[in-house]
This record gives sequence, structure tokens and C-alpha cells, in this order.
Amino acid sequence: MSKNYIVGFPRIGEQRELKKTLESFWAKNSSFDEVKKVASELKKRHWLYQKDAGIEYISSNDFSLYDNMLDMIVTLGATPKRFKNLENEELYFAMARGDKSAVAMEMTKWFNTNYHYIVPELSPEDEYKLNASKIIDEYNEAKALGIKTKINIIGPLTFLGLSKRIDGKDTYELLESILPIYKELLKEISKLDTDITVQIDEPIFVKDSELRILKFIKNTYTELANVSENIKIVVCTYFEHSIEATEILVDTPIWAIGLDFLYGDENIKSLDLINKSGKKLIAGVVDGRNIWKNNISKTISLLDLISKKVDKKNIIISSSCSLLHIPFSLKYEKNLDTDIKNWLSFAVEKLDEISLISKLFLGKLDENAKEKIKLNKKANEDRKTSTLIHDKEIQNKVANITKLQRDGKYEDRIKIQKEILAYSDLVTTTIGSFPQTPEIRKARKDFKSGDINTLEYEKQMKNYIDECIKFQEECGIEVLVHGEPERNDMVEYFGEQLKGYGFTQNGWVQSYGSRCVKPPFIFGDISRPNPMTVNWMSYAASKSDKIMKGMLTGPVTILNWSFVRDDKPKDEVSKQIAVALSDEIDDLQNAGIKIIQVDEAAFKEGYPLRDAKIKIYEKWAVRDFKIAVSKAKEQTQIHTHMCYSEFNDIIETIENMDADVISIETARSGNELLKIFKQTGYKQEVGPGVYDIHSPRIPTVEEIVKQIELLLEVLPCKQLWINPDCGLKTRKWEEVKPSLENMVKAVKIVRENI
Ligand code: GLN
Ligand code: ZN
Repeated sequence: MSKNYIVGFPRIGEQRELKKTLESFWAKNSSFDEVKKVASELKKRHWLYQKDAGIEYISSNDFSLYDNMLDMIVTLGATPKRFKNLENEELYFAMARGDKSAVAMEMTKWFNTNYHYIVPELSPEDEYKLNASKIIDEYNEAKALGIKTKINIIGPLTFLGLSKRIDGKDTYELLESILPIYKELLKEISKLDTDITVQIDEPIFVKDSELRILKFIKNTYTELANVSENIKIVVCTYFEHSIEATEILVDTPIWAIGLDFLYGDENIKSLDLINKSGKKLIAGVVDGRNIWKNNISKTISLLDLISKKVDKKNIIISSSCSLLHIPFSLKYEKNLDTDIKNWLSFAVEKLDEISLISKLFLGKLDENAKEKIKLNKKANEDRKTSTLIHDKEIQNKVANITKLQRDGKYEDRIKIQKEILAYSDLVTTTIGSFPQTPEIRKARKDFKSGDINTLEYEKQMKNYIDECIKFQEECGIEVLVHGEPERNDMVEYFGEQLKGYGFTQNGWVQSYGSRCVKPPFIFGDISRPNPMTVNWMSYAASKSDKIMKGMLTGPVTILNWSFVRDDKPKDEVSKQIAVALSDEIDDLQNAGIKIIQVDEAAFKEGYPLRDAKIKIYEKWAVRDFKIAVSKAKEQTQIHTHMCYSEFNDIIETIENMDADVISIETARSGNELLKIFKQTGYKQEVGPGVYDIHSPRIPTVEEIVKQIELLLEVLPCKQLWINPDCGLKTRKWEEVKPSLENMVKAVKIVRENI
């Protein structure tokens, strides 16, 4: 048997079958039995893919109808009170999505990925109670197919670390209450077979900010590992190194430790200890977060390095993390350039790689495997020299840029800008998009498929822009936007126009529940053959006497929401995007656009999990934002936008980005989180969202007045812009129109009283 392992497998289905059946069930077009039927077909298919590829450790309970954290909430009986009248699937989906009587639970990003989990809401009054049925059933389901799985569960420390407590206290205090349930769960699992492997995920161990949990590890894992002799426990971490936790885990009776050697190279330092402990090492060496074909010779070198320290017989070859974070299979990609396609590897293809690497590592190659290795070598060599990727001209241009930031100091720039733009205090605007109507979506789709021609497409887009402008003028908004009808997505739109970007037809990755995203990928040097937004912006500007704000997505966000080439450091790729954007900004201002907003929605989520790496990230992220806006003249006002409200730890970095105005998401947090701007003497202008757009509810004038007054307690009116939170494109016009009308009315009232 080759010793190989997959941390977890995608579950949405190669044709997004799970998405489709869930959405049909939610729309009451089909029954829950139908969902269950599709789910078990998917599980079966996914197990067989892994088995056929020759994977030894295949997981059960990596499947989920919505989210694994939510599954764990159910397993532990940690249901918030407001759902207590519900049960089974009604309860499950109500927690995830809300229902008539109870709002949904909060959702947030899983570490530094784009996957969102449901945040457990715990209370000291909770009465935890084991519900192991999903885990048991799934194990038996696989067993019936002749597949003996390892069982995946989320570990108690990660579960608590990612939870919140309704009384605001430390969640780890609840370890005493949930640990017995975990033990009971293992007891139940131990009855399933004479010998079972349980993978307990503890990615929280890689976060510096959570290192206070180290003191719980020894006891927790000694207790869990002692529950039953039948069970072999793997503690699995990923996305970064976990050397502090490993140091403790080696002294507990667990069977194996899973480490990510790609995103946590420091894990190498733990090898001596692991070897001394005699534990198995699940060696994460095949990238579970990116889509490039493995460079097998490179991986074998890494494994050789590892096996210098750890006895070869204890090494099990694995994916660096669950394959959940990459698309399913290349087999549906019919439009990709064949060269490029040959450099890629999605989840199914990675199974083959892992299987192959484990055979090679153990020296058990048959002819077929030898041939595959030859092909792998060739693909990697071709990629290295391909003219599709390497563009000397761009490389030189980017290496030689000397203008790294804008001219002038903020204090001087803002005076010039205010003279030209002549806006009042509490100037009103929006964050860029307006509702994406079915007609707009259809027009974009028809244009893509060739069903309508450019002329017709542009006519429809321009009509929409006209409508947006008309509404904003009637409503009395002061700084206008064109509404972004031509953009399906804030990254894809730019990716499609940049050289060096690729797109898949079916490269869906689960974002949350039934929602998937299809991130573009950067395979080569990035350049901008033509202006990307100038025509639309000029058209919009020509249709109104008011100021029209231009809209771009920033370099860091473009990077963070794409799969990025792995043959160049990320910061170099980012710099290339920044240079391309700087040309766009120059073209926009030359076309008469006086305000340009550069959205950095994903700036904060790009932050590294380890503090030691933060400085490096901030350095290039800020550098590249500044390069992107470097050509803006002093009189061109640069805005940025971020979808967060928590700036406490990054406020200086934000200030260093040197944008003239930043709009942020704050509606749900009153003025609490804004205080940091005051405390640090933040000088630039700020546009905190004054109402929450995530709900269809229309805010009243009084409510917004109150919100603005709260803001004025913290920042002076001359520093404040008034706008809603971001994402109007996800709402309907019936919601957006009255809400913005109320916002403008509220500003009038406040202005009269100042
Ligand atoms: N300009 C974009 C919009 O308004 C920003 C989106 C975002 O911040 N996620 O939709
Ligand atoms: Zn936003």
C-alpha cells in the first residue's frame, strides 16, 4: 500500500450538484429526500475518485450540506436558543440562513481563505449533548461501499477559538463543558470498527494570536487519545506552521501529526521531535490551495529533506490542506489554451499527483507511473520557458519604475481638491455599484455568448448608466457613480482585460453554503493592453454636471481573489498589477475624471496568520497601492474602500496608503470602531457606512440622522463623507432607492443643525 493521504475533498460536486439540489429545496421545488439522494451520490462518487487514484486515507465527514463548523455545532448540541423550536434539516438550514422567526448565525472567513464558516454562538447556559449520527452514518455509508475512511472532525480548541460567546467572555472557558462531548463522540466512533483513524483539525494552532491555548493542548489530547485503543488520532494543522503546538503534541498519545510544509516551511524545525516521538507524520507537500501542477522533482527533494530527519516508514504523503479550496476537475475545461491547461491541476488531478509521489518516494514505480513522471517533468520545464508567461518588456518596465508614490502631501492635496471639487461637509456618495438587475445580467451573458453585438450591449449598459445617474441626481446625491453594470465581479472584470490572466469554465470553489466563486488565475506577466474603464467612465461623466467618481479594484484585492502563479513571488505579481493600474488611473484623469476610487476590499484578509510575516506583507501591499495611484495628480482625489470596520491593529498602515478618502463598512458597529481614527489623529477623510445594506430593510431618516450624529461624536464634519455600506449591487432598486433618499434627507437635517 502506498502511504498517502488527503486532508479533505471538495463536496459541492463537479457540476455543482449540491448547490443545485440545495437551492431547489430551499425554493420549495424539491424535497429534502432529493437533497439526501444527491448528497449520497456525491459522497460515493468522491470516495471512488480517491480510491481509484490509489489514495489510502480517504475521509468521511468532510462532506457537509452547508458547513463543517455548523455540523460540529449540531454534533455538540451547541444550538443557540433562538432556534430551539426547530429540529433536523429545518434547524440546520435556519442556523445557516435564518428563517421567519430567527436571524441566521454569523458567518466569517475560514483563516486566510475565501471559504466562510458559521460562527458558533456559545453561552455558559448551553447544555451540550452529543449527536453523532451524521458522523456515524457517513462512516457506515462508505464502509458499505467497501471503503474504510478516516473520520474528519474539527478539534475542540479550533472550535472554541472560532466561536463567540454571547456574554463576550473567553470561549476557552467552555473547554471543560465540550471536552466530555468530544470524548463521548470518540467512544461512539470506537464502536464502529476495531481500528479507526480520526483526523482532528486544529488549524487554530497556526495563529500567533491564539497561542494562549497552548496550555490546553497536553491535557486535551491526552484525554482524547486515551478514550479508546481502537482509535488512532491524527491532529492536523494547515495554512502555516504550528511548531509551538507540535512541541506539545509529541508528548501526547496521539498517533500522527499533520503539517503543512508549503505554507508553513518552519514546520521543518519540528522534525527531530516528531522523529523522536515515533509518531507518524502526515506530510502536506501537495498544494491544496493553488491550482498548479505539482513539480514532482521539487516535491521529492522536499521529501528527501524531511526523510533525513524522520524515519521514512513514518512519513505519509498528503495534500497541504483540504482540497475544498480548489476547483474539482480539469475535465470540463474545453476552452483553455492546451499549454496552460497542461500546467494546471485541480482536486481530482491532485489525487493522481499524491498517489504518484508516494509511489516514487517509496521507489515502487511501474512503467505507467514512470511515464507520468516524465510528462510531469516536461510540463514543468515547458512552463519555465513559455513565451505565454514571460514578457521581458513588462518585467523591465516594472523593475525600472521610479515613481513610487503620488506627488504632494495630503494636507496640500486636499486643499487643492476641495477648491476644484467644491463639496460640502458630509458630502454624500455611494460605494460604486447599483442593483444588478436580471436584465443587466442577461445583457452581459448574451454579449459573452455572442447573442447580442457590441452596439446592442453598449446601448443597454449606457441606458442603465443613464438611469443610475438620473436617480442619483433626483435623489440629491452629490458625488455620483456610474453603477458598475458592466462588471459581473470586481476582480474578473479587470482580469479579463489584463494580459497574463486565465479563466476557467467550471473552476468553481465553494465560498459558503451553496455559494461558489470562480476565481480567475494569473499565469503570466501582467500588462494592460488597453484602457479598461475609461470609455464607461467618460460616458458617465458626460451625462451629468456633477462629479463622477471612477471605480477600480486595487492591486492587493485583484491578487488576493485570484489564483496566483507560483513561479514568481507574490509581491512581484502584485507590483505588475499595480503598474498596470497606474496607467489606468492616468488615463482616467486625463479623460477628466476627478475622483478615482481604488477598492481594496480584500486588503485585510490578505494578512498573514503569523505576526512575523505581517511587516513583509504590509510593506509590499502598501507599496503596490501607492504605485497604483502614483500617477494621480495632486488635484485628482484618490479614494479607497475596505469592507471592514476593525482597523485597530492596522490604522497606521491604512494611513500610510495615503488615500485622500477611505470608505469603510461600519453601519453595524455604530461609532465604536471608528474611535481608533480619532485616537490616532487620522487626518484623511473617512466615509463610514451609515446604514447596513445586508438586509432588505429600509432604514428610516431618523435612524440615519442618529447614526450620523454618532459619527460626529468621533470625527468632525469636514472629515466625514456620508455613504451606505458597500454592495448595493446585491440589493433591489425598491430597497436601494428609498434607502438612499432617506440617507440624503438625513444629511440635510444634520447639516441644518450643525
Ligand atoms: N465598488 C464595489 C461596489 O460597490 C465594491 C465592492 C466591495 O467592496 N466588495 O460594489
Ligand atoms: Zn466593500
